[in-house]
Amino acid sequence: MDLSPTQIEEFGKIVGHDFFSTDPIVQDRLARTTLPEEGSRPLGIIRPANREQVQQIVRLAAAHKTPLYPISTGKNWGYGDACAPLEGCLILDLSRMNRILEVNSKLAYAVVEPGVTQGQLSNYLRQNKIPLIMDCTGAGPETSLMGNALDRGFGHSPYGDRFGNSCNYEVVLSDGSLLSTGFGAYPNAQAQHVYKWGVGPSIDGLFTQSNLGIVTRLTLWLMPQPESLEYFFITLKTPEAISGLVEVLRQLRLQGMVRSTVHCLNERRLVASRAQYPWDQADGKQALEKQHPELLDKLCRQYGIPAWAALGVVMGSRVMTAAARRSIQKGLKGLPGLDRVLFLTEKQFTWLNRGASVMKWIIPNHPLLKSLGEARVGMDMLTGTPSFDTLKGAHWRARKEPGPAQDALDSGSGLIWISPVLPMMGESVSDLTRLAEPLFHQFGFEYQVTLSLTTERALSAIMSICFDKSSREESARAKACSEKLMDVLMNAGYVPYRGSPAILASIRKYSPAFWTAAAKLKQTWDPDGLIAPGRYIPDQKSKRTSA
Ligand SMILES: Cc1cc2nc3c(=O)[nH]c(=O)nc-3n(C[C@H](O)[C@H](O)[C@H](O)COP(=O)(O)OP(=O)(O)OC[C@H]3O[C@@H](n4cnc5c(N)ncnc54)[C@H](O)[C@@H]3O)c2cc1C
Repeated sequence: MDLSPTQIEEFGKIVGHDFFSTDPIVQDRLARTTLPEEGSRPLGIIRPANREQVQQIVRLAAAHKTPLYPISTGKNWGYGDACAPLEGCLILDLSRMNRILEVNSKLAYAVVEPGVTQGQLSNYLRQNKIPLIMDCTGAGPETSLMGNALDRGFGHSPYGDRFGNSCNYEVVLSDGSLLSTGFGAYPNAQAQHVYKWGVGPSIDGLFTQSNLGIVTRLTLWLMPQPESLEYFFITLKTPEAISGLVEVLRQLRLQGMVRSTVHCLNERRLVASRAQYPWDQADGKQALEKQHPELLDKLCRQYGIPAWAALGVVMGSRVMTAAARRSIQKGLKGLPGLDRVLFLTEKQFTWLNRGASVMKWIIPNHPLLKSLGEARVGMDMLTGTPSFDTLKGAHWRARKEPGPAQDALDSGSGLIWISPVLPMMGESVSDLTRLAEPLFHQFGFEYQVTLSLTTERALSAIMSICFDKSSREESARAKACSEKLMDVLMNAGYVPYRGSPAILASIRKYSPAFWTAAAKLKQTWDPDGLIAPGRYIPDQKSKRTSA
């Protein structure tokens, strides 16, 4: 299906012809994906400048029954990129709508449009000397705050739950009308930016991981800069020691001693964030740890990589951080397999860095110098400054250079995230390892995992299947690996918190009642399946083909 010349003229008129394209080269670019499946090819792309233009586009699309796929910045790498789940959508790219509409430093919130990126808000706060901290993800400076929140992504601070820390959504519905959620529904409601629930049914969540509306504005809560802040780094000597660490961290999280999202990365995930697959010495047919354990050991030694590394931050008053530090030290005392615990303040880091700059002259390649650089990236992220460096892990098996923005699509990276949520229990982590690691090995991939302790009771295990997208054989293996993994995980009751269209398709069959109810909502709010057909909620009626 193509757009007719009349449609092209009409869509172009709304935004200006410079911001609308059906060029096949642009279509090809938009169809790029890190997933093993072919990306869906869109009809084109339209880039509105404001909410009024979004409403006009939606009305015109409704008149012509042209499906729209909204993106904020479209960098949903590993979960679907900028590709619609189904063929033949017009990409509604909201990245031009990138105004920070308000920052309230007393009540600690920002009101943003879809295109506002992590880098933009972070810079804005710093440049205007606003003493607030934004939660930050590892997806780099050029990804949006809104797209991430609407996919219920998470960052690294105590406000890591992006959806939980947002409210007051302004939404364009499928008939072009406007809806505001929470107290935003009431003109001049005084508490619209500071109270999530409003009155009556709470419907913010309906616009996340769904296709019921196009969000054009939301409020995001920020953290005040604390009086005192200490980063902590924990390393483990053995792979099994992670279960004990998770037990300790759960207790600390439940007691409120650790409030930030703690991220624990296994050895192979750490290696991937610093190096690339040694293609000159291995063929990628088997996991490196199976085929060439000596090469993996060499990389670990070269970069000083432990079996596990965990990273978090404690913040508050001086008394609070000192108490938290003592509790963490006490909790970790005698933990089997513990390697090191390090607490660092900004001041201490500065001193270490000064020492390192002297050391650079004496031992230029000392691993400590590299570790300091890595620590800086992690510390910045914990306090709201995104970095392109955190994107390096995506390119593990890529064959091309990623370029300065570390874009996984530019390096030809293959990446599938499988992200089951587990009860925060050591035994659940052991169970996951027992189930998942052999499957990664069966299909010839390194077992890379980050355990993100996002709440007090649950953690998300973010497993990455990294593959060489330029190889058909390897892509097919990655697909088979993800299918088998999903099968095994779903049968064991480990359900992902988010996923690509293929992952979602494999989840739905386990809960037909839930997805039928969701489809009824879609039918009521968007009977013609105009907005993001097939995104999370299955497409009921159309004959559009799945990508
Ligand atoms: C190395 C690496 C590290 C990563 N680290 C993290 C991490 O720490 N945390 C994390 O959560 N993710 C992470 N990601 C995954 C992903 O890149 C981010 O979640 C990213 O923020 C999503 O892209 P985006 O912001 O451009 O959202 P988009 O791609 O624009 O949108 C995401 C989804 O929301 C929908 N959507 C977007 N805007 C709207 C709107 N206005 N109205 C309705 N629907 C909309 C889109 O249709 C899409 O399905 C990482 C990826 C890589 C490769």
